[in-house]
Amino acid sequence: MSSDSPATSDPRRAIPSTDRLLALPEVVAAGQRLAAQVIRRLITDIQAAARRGELPPDAVVPRVIEAVQTTQPSELSAVLNATGVIIHTNLGRAPLSDAARNALLAAAGYVDLELDLDDGKRSKRGTWAKAALLAQAPDADDALIVNNGAAALSLATTGLAVAQGTPEVVLSRGELVEIGAGFRLPDLITSTGTRLAEVGTTNRTTLDDYRGAVTETTGALLKVHPSNYWIGGFNSSVTTKQLATLAAEQALPLIVDVGSGLFESDSVLPDEPTIGQALRDGADVVIASGDKLLGGPQAGLLLGSRTALQKLAAHPLARAFRADKFTLAALEATLNAPSTPVYDALHADGDELYARSRRIAEALDAQVVAHEGRVGGGGGAGVPIAGWAVRLPEHFAHPLRTGSPAILPRVAAGRCLLDLRCVPAAEDERVLQRLRQIAEGVA
Ligand SMILES: *Cc1c(COP(=O)(O)O)cnc(C)c1O
Repeated sequence: MSSDSPATSDPRRAIPSTDRLLALPEVVAAGQRLAAQVIRRLITDIQAAARRGELPPDAVVPRVIEAVQTTQPSELSAVLNATGVIIHTNLGRAPLSDAARNALLAAAGYVDLELDLDDGKRSKRGTWAKAALLAQAPDADDALIVNNGAAALSLATTGLAVAQGTPEVVLSRGELVEIGAGFRLPDLITSTGTRLAEVGTTNRTTLDDYRGAVTETTGALLKVHPSNYWIGGFNSSVTTKQLATLAAEQALPLIVDVGSGLFESDSVLPDEPTIGQALRDGADVVIASGDKLLGGPQAGLLLGSRTALQKLAAHPLARAFRADKFTLAALEATLNAPSTPVYDALHADGDELYARSRRIAEALDAQVVAHEGRVGGGGGAGVPIAGWAVRLPEHFAHPLRTGSPAILPRVAAGRCLLDLRCVPAAEDERVLQRLRQIAEGVA
């Protein structure tokens, strides 16, 4: 065939056909990992780019091979968190322990979720996760695990606040929390038809404010820990203990949302409310998230009195919010394992962090500077966590984020800061290699 005839001189005619591309050995091999329609879409997109002239026809084959080899069934990528923010909402909050990761893998197949293997009969779902939870919270009679903290709060207020007419939940104006991404707890509570009786002011609420709001339509008293902000200056709030006395007087349930999921007080965060203390102070139901300071999977935990928990477990919303086998498995493993990555990051040894930072900095002729980490969305709002960072020019940030492994540094005041608090020490070498590549302008 002559290459200079008008018909064949159109370069688009040289674009390889779909059949030819599908027959490439690399494409055939990718069929083991990717669905046929995914491969076809990659191919058609590249052919279309070539047709538009964005790609020479002879680049189509290598581009298709690269595309099928680099495309993953899930595009969610692992990220090394070098921000110093432990519970980083944009990075999926708590990273799981090895125990929890293994439990997730085991749960991926058929499991004895609702089956007693001994007698072959149906058993109660989530029994082991619940037992692990109660072992850590001996002040609770019973527990329930749902999808997340918001579901737990919604279930508790809907299921416990029952009264003549439309029930009301009494809540301080200092605790009207927006949890992020525009979601506000007051809206969540009222979305199931419960009314909110706001009491006090932003900075001060007294026990008399709560007492004055109790009417025959009051269904419950609620206390919410403002986990992502704090009120300083002229302020006062009512303790759980005081509220419990009022709740008992009025025969009302007291719901306490502590947010973070600490069972008992942590030396690094002495002001963070705990599940244990809230129960001892007289809360009927305590609510917390599983993937904040507890360091487990996304989950909503409800712990408290048997009467309250049985009522909640029987509510139709409990079925809508129920946790799946992955949550139950990962939560149980988190609770039974010796530590969590969140706990380890919170308690990381300063000297060790300094030594690790120093090693990386020296290899790059960079400096180690004092750096304050944060707990993040999980609690300890405003509490600085003293640590260190490797200080680099800001232009390192983009290649760090977009390279492999993806590394998220903190960018502040025109600098790229790498805080190793939440980076496993075993990854230091990969981090250093990546930094060297960027410094040498390789990628
Ligand atoms: C985070 C938080 C919630 C919401 O929990 P999710 O697990 O994110 O749904 C509710 N209440 C408080 C006090 C919180 O801190």
